[in-house]
Amino acid sequence: MNFSEFGFDDRLMEGIDASGYETATPVQEQVIPLILQNRDIIASAQTGTGKTAAFLLPLINKIITQAHQNHSNTALIIVPTRELAIQIAQHMEGLSYFTSVSSIAVYGGGDGNAFIQEKKALSAGADVVICTPGKMMAHIKMGYVKLDGLQYLVLDEADRMLDMGFYDDIMFIIKHLPPKRQNLLFSATMPQKIRELARKILHNPAEVNIAISKPNEKIVQEAFVVFEEQKIPLVKHLLHQKNFAMVLVFCSSKLSVKQLTRDLRKAGINAGEIHSDLEQDKREEVLMLFNSGRLPVLVATDILSRGIDIDNIDLVINYDVPHDGEDYVHRIGRTARAAAEGTAYTFISPKEQRRFAAIERLVDKTITKATVPENLGPVPQYNPAPQRKPGGGKKRFFKPGKGKGRPHGGGNRPNAN
Ligand code: AMP
Repeated sequence: MNFSEFGFDDRLMEGIDASGYETATPVQEQVIPLILQNRDIIASAQTGTGKTAAFLLPLINKIITQAHQNHSNTALIIVPTRELAIQIAQHMEGLSYFTSVSSIAVYGGGDGNAFIQEKKALSAGADVVICTPGKMMAHIKMGYVKLDGLQYLVLDEADRMLDMGFYDDIMFIIKHLPPKRQNLLFSATMPQKIRELARKILHNPAEVNIAISKPNEKIVQEAFVVFEEQKIPLVKHLLHQKNFAMVLVFCSSKLSVKQLTRDLRKAGINAGEIHSDLEQDKREEVLMLFNSGRLPVLVATDILSRGIDIDNIDLVINYDVPHDGEDYVHRIGRTARAAAEGTAYTFISPKEQRRFAAIERLVDKTITKATVPENLGPVPQYNPAPQRKPGGGKKRFFKPGKGKGRPHGGGNRPNAN
């Protein structure tokens, strides 16, 4: 479907052209007309489906075609992480470039200057506010955020926000919004708690389902069955064995991220790290170095598994088995984006074997167990079959389906905040 069929304003069409979008993705085809018809929406759509533009485009169009701009913040997009807020703000800037729609990203970790700019924009009223829950709540508590004319609320990656414990913050923010508004909820998964949130917030929502819980076929998936202490030597071996240009290593804990990065650097591998202990500036700098190809290896916690749009990664390593099948799909989905092919390796220690088997069931695929180099020593047997206790049932290990510039007044455009 061509974008001209949505009847968008010419200025928005220019931004779409400039962003290089030619045809609408399936989620855009389904969601955009519903938003233009003022429907509330609950959509299960993952990162990579084009869901960001699916809500940004109709919102920008509605805002530019409104007869009177009000002096309130008009649309509020709540997201789980700063990185996602920055990324959406960048999309926003590109798509709205030829319009006079203003936007601002509001997220934690900034300095005093950022706070002053946010306060100024939120007091004057921006057209689109992209925020993380905690930081927005802090601003609202100060009493200057203009919300009386708010018309649109978007909850993006809602399952992730609930997993991160943002339920109360989100409800606090919603309590301060006018009851009459259009609500859009996007979530990669639809567990019961998301349905309950939807029942509280949405009015007669249209339901859209674009879930792709299966990894892209272009990703070569392999697993290594190892002991925990063989993992660091195995990363080093794999990185030395072939010259990968862009490698993303996911670890479940900050501690492993720090330790692995340290060890890789000692071994002469140019590796950077991203985790929640790092200052925002530092995180942005590392991401920028990685994105630009100057840092070949990035070791990260799950902060980067969802919603982050980095192309050209040739190898994703799951240093440990993700706790959640959806996280596995998100992590390995960082590779083989665009047209490129990609490889995803997962390291399985003995205590992670059953969890990995559950992931294989979720993605409906038996993943090849690759040979571990002999010089790493003997490896454990792969035997993930659940043990039956005498008289007992199976133990459950895994629950499937669980879930640049700072303020973007449109960069250098006039009319921006
Ligand atoms: P998202 O799922 O929103 O994170 O989008 C994933 C990637 O697809 C981003 O790089 C978008 O810029 C890109 N994208 C979104 N819509 C389209 C489209 N209609 N055509 C081409 N690329 C798109």
